[in-house]
Order: sequence, then C-alpha cells, then structure tokens
Amino acid sequence: MTTVLRGVGVSPGRRAAPAARMAPAVAEPAPSEALPESEREAAVEAITAASHQVREDLLAAAASASGTASEILTVTSTMATDPSLIRAAEKRVRDDGDSPEWAVWQAADALAEQLLALGGNLAERATDVRDVRARIVARLTGVAGPGVPVRDEPYILVAHDLAPADTATLDADAVLAIVTSGGGPTSHTSILARSLGIPCVVAVSGADDIADGDLLAVDGGAGEIHVAPDDALVERFAAAIEAPSELTGPGATKDSHRVALLANIGDPAGAAPAAEAGAEGVGLFRTEFCFLGRDTAPSIEEQVSQYTTVLEAFPGKKVVIRTLDAGADKPLPFVTADDEPNPALGVRGLRTSWERPEVLEDQLNAIAQAAAATSADVHVMAPMVATVAEAQSFVDTCASLGIEQAGIMIEIPAAALRARDLLKVATFASVGTNDLTQYALAADRELASLAELSTPWQPAVLDLIAVACEGAAGHDRPVGVCGEAAADPALAPVLVGLGVASLSMTARSLPAVGAVLATLTWDECRALAEVAREAPSAHEARARVRERIPALEEWGL
Ligand code: PEP
Ligand code: MG
Repeated sequence: MTTVLRGVGVSPGRRAAPAARMAPAVAEPAPSEALPESEREAAVEAITAASHQVREDLLAAAASASGTASEILTVTSTMATDPSLIRAAEKRVRDDGDSPEWAVWQAADALAEQLLALGGNLAERATDVRDVRARIVARLTGVAGPGVPVRDEPYILVAHDLAPADTATLDADAVLAIVTSGGGPTSHTSILARSLGIPCVVAVSGADDIADGDLLAVDGGAGEIHVAPDDALVERFAAAIEAPSELTGPGATKDSHRVALLANIGDPAGAAPAAEAGAEGVGLFRTEFCFLGRDTAPSIEEQVSQYTTVLEAFPGKKVVIRTLDAGADKPLPFVTADDEPNPALGVRGLRTSWERPEVLEDQLNAIAQAAAATSADVHVMAPMVATVAEAQSFVDTCASLGIEQAGIMIEIPAAALRARDLLKVATFASVGTNDLTQYALAADRELASLAELSTPWQPAVLDLIAVACEGAAGHDRPVGVCGEAAADPALAPVLVGLGVASLSMTARSLPAVGAVLATLTWDECRALAEVAREAPSAHEARARVRERIPALEEWGL
C-alpha cells in the first residue's frame, strides 16, 4: 500500500524510481594494540599518503564541479591535510603506537570537539573535520568511502543529510531526486540541489525508514514522497517531467508586465553559463564566495580581474555586485571574528566595514575599475543593512568612487519595515528572503528541525516584502528578490503580485519560473499574493497558491 511522507519541497520536479540510500557511515575503528617502534614510521607515512589522496580526490571533484559546489569542495579539501589534524594523528602513532586509522579517528574527534566548543563559525568546520576523517580512515582501511552510491540504473537518493562534499559531486543523470530527513530549505543541500536542477524534498519525517530499493515517487514542488506508488501515479509522474528547459525571451506576465529574470552567481566561472542560460543579467553576485577560506584580504588587482570576468559576460546588461557578505555561515577570517556567541546576529555583512572600512573601500574601488573597463550596467549592493545611516554611508562611499547605482539588501525586518526611508537614500533594493525569513521567524536557516518555520511562504515574511515594496514604490525605486524564494515557480508569481520588479535565482530555475509567470496575468499574480497573505499558515499559503496555478500540475513543478 502506498504511504505518503511529507517534508519541505525545495527543488521542484516529479520523479519516480527506486531508492538508494547513502553508504553507511564509516565505522569507528577498534582501538589498536601498540605498534612496535619499528612499524611506526611506516604508519605515519600511511597517514600522510591517505590524507593527501583524500585531498586530491576532493580537488578532482572540485575541478569537475563548478560554482558554489567547486568552492565548497575546495574548502573541504584543505581540511584533509590540515596540519593540526595530521600532526596530532602522527604524534599519537609515534608516541603511543596507535594504528594509523585509530590515530586519525581520535585526533579528528578531539579537533572536532575543540571546534564545537569554540562555537560560531568554527563549530561549522567540525562537519568538515568529521567528513575528511571518514574519508581518510576509509582509505587507510580499504573500505568504501562515504559518498553517493554508484548504481547501474538512475535512482532517488535517500539520506539523513548530505555533506556539502557529497552534494557537490552529484550527477543529475544518475540521481533523479533527493530525499533527506534532515536539512533545511536554505541549507547547502537545498541550494545545490536547486542549482543542479534535481528535485529535492528535505526535512521529511519518516525518510529514515525508507529501505534501499523501495519504489518512490517524489514531488519536489509539493514536498511529498509516495512510497510504493501505484502504476497510475508513476505514469502520471513520468508524463509530467517535460517542464520547459529553456528561457524564451525576457521575463513577463501573460499580459506583458515586465519582470526581469536575473541570475545568482557565486564566482566568475558561473557568469558565462548564466548568460548562456538566457539570464537578463545578474541580480546577485555573491562576492564572498570568491574569497572563502582566505586569511588575508584580496588585493584590488585580484578583485578587478574577478569582477571583470563577470561583467564581460553581460555586455550592456545589468549586473548587481554584492559587497562581501562575510559572517555566520560564510566566515572570511580577514574580517570576521570567530568567537561571537551568535554569529548570525553579529558583525556580519556591511557591519564588518565599521572596523575595517578599507576592505569595503578597496572592494568598491575594484568594482569601479572593472565597471570602467566593461560595458555592463553595474549596480552595487550592500548586505545586511539595518538603518538609514548605514545605507547613507554606503551610498556616499559609492558616490565618492563614481558608482551611481548603490542599493541595499532587505534581509533584516527593520529594513523591510522602514524601506520607505531607506529607499530615499538607496537607488534600489533586493530582498534576501533567506535571511529575512531567518530573522522574521527567529529560526536558524541551517537547522532542519526548524524547517517548518524557515520558509518564505510564511505569511509574515510575505507581509514584510509587501511593506518593503510599498515603501520603495513611494520613491519609484525598484525592489527585486534574490533569495531562494525567487526560484520557486509557485512563489515567484506571488512575489510579482506583491510588487517585486525582478527575480534573481540560480540559472537552472530560470526556465521554469519564466514559463509559469508567462501563464498568469499581473492581476492574477496580485490575487495570488492576496490569497497567500490571507492564509493562516505557510503550509496553507503554499497549498492554496499551488492549486490556483494550473501550469505547475501540467509541468510537474
Ligand atoms: C538571502 O539572505 O536571501 C540572500 C540572498 O543572501 P545569502 O543567501 O547569501 O545570505
Ligand atoms: Mg543573506
């Protein structure tokens, strides 16, 4: 009999296939008898070799991935040969005669515990430490490494959660959909699944009971998993997978109300593919991704070169460059502290320029130089702006360098509520729904256990966006959305109905969002926005809007 499991749909699409579960975790090795002195140097060499091999594996995977995925793998790879980890393991072998696998296991455990105790950004590195530990121990003991299963037939990947390194290596031809019991809508798993165009449902209760080989029908739009579906449902899902795969023309509603469809990119390598996908420009270039894991600020020259590559991919088109959004889940050691008790509420985003104004000035200088050398229509935007004074200071600094289009992100409720004041100063705004949701609901965006709260379908979040749009309209200044909400083909028309002028998203989502928008009039979008805001819950808002957009069912989105 079919059972239906529910979770949070984070990447739309319908697929039916057998389940394949992630390989079991690499088991903790047994404590060893002390190695004889004569064998210890060979054991130390085995650790060095295995850790370098793991680093090479991760770098090779980084080279075959692109954009954010490649960045994440590169950062994880550095942990494989991290001196504090490897030296501690080698010391255990030399001093105590531990076997190489036991030494690595214990040394990594101690390091992970230390990082967790330090809290904040450093605590997040503990996941990387445990990930590389498993990979090194698998190499040393000759067992299957952790990671995505390899099967002859395409499958639906079922996991508790995916390590960033696993998600980054997914092959969309083999993995038809992803189902996890953990993970939140704005977690790495979700963002990467969307950027790969793989249907994905996270925070699914009951997912841990799905067995390898169970037939599943996954609806990434509705957030439903049918376990042991009947033939009719499987056929319906198979018939509905021909969603539009190319963006045709500029974004607009059915009655030609223009809505620019822009791309989010995380590094220069993402620019050309976004342009090829038909993006009308870039609505969010997350510059901090270019410099993750660096201890020192990048030079102006290096930045000019990175930004120029992006601008050259969009001649004559709009490109919104966001200044460094360091902090919380994206620490940059050269501007962020690692000992804040609440990094998401700490000195992050634009606030880092209070202590280090020269880092922002150098960046704006580099942007101005890159802009002067290309024909792109360059806009600059500050992250995490809360007050008019912050917006004014940013706009003034931009103006002093000849940058006229200086905007702000609206991701703090205070900014949404006072958009009417902020937009007197800033020339445009872009709503970061990921953080706006996190701060409006007081729900950590990375926590699976809060996934029910962490959704931009929350009527309170929609109210904040509406207020921001109304405030900006008073000055005739545009408000876009560049958070993950823009990539949801059901939510995008709602955002347009709330008054949003542009939608920026991972390039993969552009065709579906553009196609759905083109089936609705502007009045219909406004009516959908009303329906969503009047709903008593996020779940109801989503369900009521989805049932009013026939194209979603037709294309299986
Ligand atoms: C957001 O918060 O919605 C946003 C676009 O910024 P980031 O996801 O990079 O924090
Ligand atoms: Mg943000």
